[in-house]
Amino acid sequence: MDIFKPLDLRKDDLNITNIENIEKVRCLIVGSGPAGYTAAIYASRANLNPVLYTGLQMGGQLTTTTDVDNYPGYPDGVSGQKMMEDFKKQAERFGGDIRFGIATAVDFSGRKHKVTFDDNKIVEADAVIIATGATAKYLGLESETKYAGMGVSACATCDGFFFRGKDVAVVGGGDTAAEEATYLAGLCRKVYLIVRRDTLRASKVMQNKVFKSGNIEILWEHQTVDLFGDNGVEGATLVRKKGTYEEEIVKIKIDGFFLAIGHNPNSEVFKKYIETDQVGYIITVPGTSKTNVEGVFAAGDVQDSHYRQAVTAAGSGCMAAIDAERYLSEL
Ligand code: NDP
Repeated sequence: MDIFKPLDLRKDDLNITNIENIEKVRCLIVGSGPAGYTAAIYASRANLNPVLYTGLQMGGQLTTTTDVDNYPGYPDGVSGQKMMEDFKKQAERFGGDIRFGIATAVDFSGRKHKVTFDDNKIVEADAVIIATGATAKYLGLESETKYAGMGVSACATCDGFFFRGKDVAVVGGGDTAAEEATYLAGLCRKVYLIVRRDTLRASKVMQNKVFKSGNIEILWEHQTVDLFGDNGVEGATLVRKKGTYEEEIVKIKIDGFFLAIGHNPNSEVFKKYIETDQVGYIITVPGTSKTNVEGVFAAGDVQDSHYRQAVTAAGSGCMAAIDAERYLSEL
């Protein structure tokens, strides 16, 4: 892949009129998950006086999970919400300026990078770190919202442990679904893999792992239409295709329902300038956080379709701050 393929850049389309004050900063961080906060900790300690805008979901995806047991340094586990508050406090301790705001437009056409927040404020930065994360896709059922944190999850690695010895279902037929089903099969009594077609999209290696597992049952050509339960998820209602016109309603008893139908990287606002892959993940120079625009760096899930863990996001946030610091010192 040609990492530095020039993009068709459009000049200043910040969608703003009548803005008098443009705030100038050295280092701007967009996003407040583990990647953004870690970048803020490192950038503050390097005297870059970073300004961090949190985005709509302050703390990122982790704030939607219950306990985090796999982040080093928390031997007794910690709630995702509390962990993100700790990250924020640590960033503020060294002078990180954390603000609420959503990036609504960018102009990366010049050496100074401009980002508009909430359609009414422009921040001009020498270096920008994009850490806007990704959002798990959901089926769009009302019951998914009703049972959020009560049996519905989009991360088996984060939440699978709570379903040890129980029956669960994973929706999806790609590598993530195959990986999550295999992971859960090691913890749970039974795993239903709900696949909407009669074939898996996952790679052959991952498929073989699923087929070899003794406690994964694949429900081919099934679609989930509802979840039910009095105290959290107790089951799911599925529709099975039977021939071209016939359908059959199937109910399964489960305690956990895991979505694995893909993620959307939150890169839309940057796409006019920043190169992404087909799905929208920002492409960085391997082993660095550098994007195709000088002085713009990316960290965390917005550039990582593979690992997607809090600890790897934090690590890449550290990388981005160090890359930004070196870039600024060479300016
Ligand atoms: P994918 O887009 O590859 O797969 C999504 C799956 O979800 C597909 O099977 C799709 O079905 C199904 N799906 C989508 N929408 C619905 C819906 N509304 N109802 C039911 N099923 C639905 O996403 P992944 O997250 O699996 O993978 C993303 C990328 O990351 C891929 O490139 C993958 O290879 C990579 N990856 C690699 C891993 C590894 O190498 N270890 C691990 C995880 C991911 P359908 O097939 O019918 O479209």
